[in-house]
Amino acid sequence: MIAPFTYVSNPGRVIFGSGTIDQLGDEADRLGMKRALVLATPQQEGAARDTADRLFERCAGIFAGAVMHTPVEVTEHAMGLVQAQAVDGIVSIGGGSTIGLGKAIALRTDLPQIVIPTTYAGSEMTPILGETKDGAKTTQSSARILPETVIYDVDLTLSLPTPLSGTSGVNAIAHAVEALYAENRNPVISLIALEAIAALAEALPRIAQDPADRDARASALYGAWLCGTCLGAVGMALHHKLCHVLGGSFDLPHAETHTVVLPHALAYNAPAIPEVMTRLQAVLGPNPADALHKLGHEVGAPRSLRDLGMAEACVDEAVTRALANPYWNPRQLEVAPLRALISRAWAGDGPRI
Ligand code: NAD
Repeated sequence: MIAPFTYVSNPGRVIFGSGTIDQLGDEADRLGMKRALVLATPQQEGAARDTADRLFERCAGIFAGAVMHTPVEVTEHAMGLVQAQAVDGIVSIGGGSTIGLGKAIALRTDLPQIVIPTTYAGSEMTPILGETKDGAKTTQSSARILPETVIYDVDLTLSLPTPLSGTSGVNAIAHAVEALYAENRNPVISLIALEAIAALAEALPRIAQDPADRDARASALYGAWLCGTCLGAVGMALHHKLCHVLGGSFDLPHAETHTVVLPHALAYNAPAIPEVMTRLQAVLGPNPADALHKLGHEVGAPRSLRDLGMAEACVDEAVTRALANPYWNPRQLEVAPLRALISRAWAGDGPRI
């Protein structure tokens, strides 16, 4: 029998394909942008210039200062430009760091956003913003944060370095896996999640073999869009909480940490979610947690939290912090099994159910 559910879909316009960035001008017109600010990281300043050129006279300026974790000081700096240049729209080109800055500006101004994602992180599909102030990260959700238009252009993902392609893709899979056992899961998002996991699990090893494989890149970006949709629609659980704690407390890299932890978090929850494990078997094979562990190896990701620079002495602190603020998870959170999970992830062992 189908369990009762509530389904809410986020509004948004999505354009997907190869060469779709050519439609940027028309999309800016659609949103009435006459003085758009283009955002990027310093590493993607060239892409920002190309984007600005495509906007012609609709571009009021470029801010290529986005960094990881959306520090409030960087947002305030960009806000200075927004005000000085009478900006009337935001165009973000890049990964979650750049998209985070665009969302932070939209939260403060309610300006419309066009997002052109170049990683698989999925932030463009969510009304969620994580900001850092004085070293502390806070997360909030608001309709103002959700981008109005997303342009997925497969061509722009060809330059994503191979290791980051793999870990960013597994980061995306994590959204879909947790969506399947979310407290507010629903049949529509579960369908999307399974389609997303299948697309990414098939495409990521092919990208690791040949980063210029356009067909694999298209599948991965398609999967990433679906994974972002899952993240924007339902709540996450143990895996995302653990990665948030590990990243925030020990300064571990975002996508790599997700890739190391996901098989272990799924193995922890497996006994409490037999139906989800059966559905995952259909897309990942007989042992989904092992398959995700193997996928990490196939895409050349770091194998352990130790490889990411975490000291073994931090395992206990990670357990304490993961238990500090109670949150929903399909399996009860207990000290000993949680310590075993983090210890195995730290050492690079295989997941154990
Ligand atoms: P990122 O945006 O930090 O990008 C990593 C690096 O890769 C950057 O230097 C970037 O310029 C570069 N890069 C991106 N695309 C490239 C391309 N195609 N070619 C060459 N270089 C490229 O990494 P990310 O993993 O996309 O984002 C991580 C951040 O996003 C984290 O802060 C995370 O918390 C946040 N995030 C937020 C949400 C949300 O819903 N709020 C969802 C997912 C991630």
